[in-house]
Amino acid sequence: MDEILGQVLRSAVWERLDMLTELAKRADAPSLLSVARSELPRLTEGWRSMLSAHEPDEKGNCPVCSSRWRQQKAPCSVWRAAYEHLVAGGLAPQHTPRRGKSEPGSRRSRRLAGAR
Ligand SMILES: [Zn+2]
Repeated sequence: MDEILGQVLRSAVWERLDMLTELAKRADAPSLLSVARSELPRLTEGWRSMLSAHEPDEKGNCPVCSSRWRQQKAPCSVWRAAYEHLVAGGLAPQHTPRRGKSEPGSRRSRRLAGAR
């Protein structure tokens, strides 16, 4: 995938996440219920799909995060992030990073926060 297409794809995903965050904050109850019914299954399916790709192989390494030269023992960063966000954080709002509207630095700081 070339660099520009990669950038477009990443921007589209960030915008989608921003939109869902805004909806969660501001939509009225009926709209929120409707969005939850349509989006929650998509999000869980997305996590399942991503986590399936990062299931450890027979040697206990992540096949996606490992390279030819360096093996990544499971659980890899994707599985650790899943645990942190879905289980340890319990999807509670206080565990989501606080951020302002869409000031220029917010995407960068989110990426940095997500990279931990
Ligand atoms: Zn992995």
